[in-house]
Amino acid sequence: MDVSSRISLAVLLVEDNDDDAQLVLRILRKAGYAPLHQRVETADSLLTALSERHWDIVISDFNLPGFSGLQALDLVRRSGIDLPFILVSGAIGEETAVQAMKAGAHDYVMKDNLTRLPMAVQRELREAEERRARHEAEEEIIKLSRALMQSASLVMITDPIGTIEYLNDAFLRVTGYHPDDLLGQDVVVLGAQDGLARHFAAARSNGTLEAEWRGELLNARKNGAPYWVSVTLSVVRGADGAVSNLLIVMEDISIRKQLETELQQYTHRLEMMVEERTAQLRGAKDQIEIILNNSSDAIAMAGSGGDIVRINPAFRRMFGSRVEQAIEHLLTVIEEPRQVERVAQAIVSVMMEENDQARVEASITGSDGVAIDVDAAMAPVRHETDDRAGLVLSLRDITYLKDIDRFKSRFVAHAAHDLGNPITTLKMRLYLLERMPERLKEHLSVLTREVERLETLVTELRTLSELDRGVVTLRRTSTDLNMLVYSVLEAHQPLAADREQNLQFSLAPRLPDIKLDPRKFERVIVNLLSNALRYTPNGGDIHLSTLAAEGGVSLLVRDSGIGIDQEELPFIFERFYRSDRARQIDSGGTGLGLAIVREVVEAHGGRITVDSAINQGTTFTVWLPVG
Ligand code: ADP
Repeated sequence: MDVSSRISLAVLLVEDNDDDAQLVLRILRKAGYAPLHQRVETADSLLTALSERHWDIVISDFNLPGFSGLQALDLVRRSGIDLPFILVSGAIGEETAVQAMKAGAHDYVMKDNLTRLPMAVQRELREAEERRARHEAEEEIIKLSRALMQSASLVMITDPIGTIEYLNDAFLRVTGYHPDDLLGQDVVVLGAQDGLARHFAAARSNGTLEAEWRGELLNARKNGAPYWVSVTLSVVRGADGAVSNLLIVMEDISIRKQLETELQQYTHRLEMMVEERTAQLRGAKDQIEIILNNSSDAIAMAGSGGDIVRINPAFRRMFGSRVEQAIEHLLTVIEEPRQVERVAQAIVSVMMEENDQARVEASITGSDGVAIDVDAAMAPVRHETDDRAGLVLSLRDITYLKDIDRFKSRFVAHAAHDLGNPITTLKMRLYLLERMPERLKEHLSVLTREVERLETLVTELRTLSELDRGVVTLRRTSTDLNMLVYSVLEAHQPLAADREQNLQFSLAPRLPDIKLDPRKFERVIVNLLSNALRYTPNGGDIHLSTLAAEGGVSLLVRDSGIGIDQEELPFIFERFYRSDRARQIDSGGTGLGLAIVREVVEAHGGRITVDSAINQGTTFTVWLPVG
């Protein structure tokens, strides 16, 4: 046999007879082994040999002088080394053989049948190998189960149908269960609150119990308290491929879950806050837009360079066709050089942060070249990110306030003048009366006239003032306009006759009654009729008529008098306005009559228009709504 293919074998021979030993070796060689051997024949030398090196097998003679195979066997066993031990004996009784096997000998071979030895060796070696492998596996299992037991993960092992077979310490610690509560029970014993129990129940009804699974579950402790786990369910198969167990390894992720939940809540709160803030800002922006768009003030926003970046609709309306010019060069819409300078200075002072705000009045040219008096207010706009200031410019149309101012001064001047005139005349007449008492009658007549005129003036002023202050409330009653007109006509007939004026009327039949204040409206008819009589030369025609008009009734007062210049028409309803021609013809007027007429008509919801031609006559038309 080829030496290289032989199986090396470390043989420890317990044998006193070298011939016998050689025989054993020969037989082993013959069977294909390459025995490396040592022969010992005492307990000491046996122990030394055992400690010196590794042996594959011990082959021991049964009887030695002063030593025995059974003693050798005992020593080997005590050494703790798992060595195959074969006894070789000349003659061995059944009883002795049993005793030897009981003592741990693995086999025995008769000296007269040594050919059996290789087979026994072979078997013992194989069994020793199996024992060793088993031992290793057992060690491994012990290691693993220790690892399982001590693992921080929660471990459960069930049989293939879910009966709990094993639980590690971590599982018991976390859940608070006692092994007796669960071992031998189905997983569903963990209760409906437990995610794993529900998973098992569901998997069982789906037929997927024997499937690998990973996931996260909300489980319940023994006391019902919930805890989150990440689960790995593995299927353990035996050598035959059949499922032997289900291994469930769970990591307690309660803290992670709690952090996740907190993070989610935090994120949610943050989102809400951002949303809320955005809505607030949007709301504020909308409000500002509404204010800007609906403000009657013209508003423009300028950037830090002074260029207008935004205007509101009122600004567009104020400048109309000149809006582009106003945006490009705001100062060019101010006509007066001194005002231009004042506005420019105000703008600069705000932009340079010298002033928090500035106000200045100016007169600008708006759309269609019409002059508009404005109160210009300027305030800086500072951005957090940019300390250079922009500017908000708001222009308030104060033309009507200025008009009132102008009107007031004119009114005072006129009133002083018109009150002054009769007083001068009165003083003059009193002086003349003193000097020329013989002309008493004439003086008295003038004095009376002037006093009457003053009285009228004061009465009319009082009426206007009352109308202005709104202290007059209209006492409306259902009134027959024709009757009212007729009574005024009748009262004025003598005066007309006196002046040889032809006073005529035509009253529309079946006029609807209208709700008006008869006493106030009587003043309207009186004033219009007096004017017609006053400004119509002797022998002229005066005609009053009423007629039904759309939605109301109309009263027309027509005369063939001196007429009114077209240019003067817009002013005749103003207080104290009297035309020069009127002044020449009649010094008795106050210039307040038409102002009162218009106020009363408008207070009734009506309107008055005038149509006139110089030296041909004038027609005043009053329209009043019905109802
Ligand atoms: P007055 O006291 O001067 O009449 P009014 O307010 O009644 O004051 O009228 C204002 C001006 O209107 C008059 O001064 C006159 O110039 C003009 N006016 C009014 N009515 C007539 C008319 N019927 N014909 C011509 N001018 C009139």
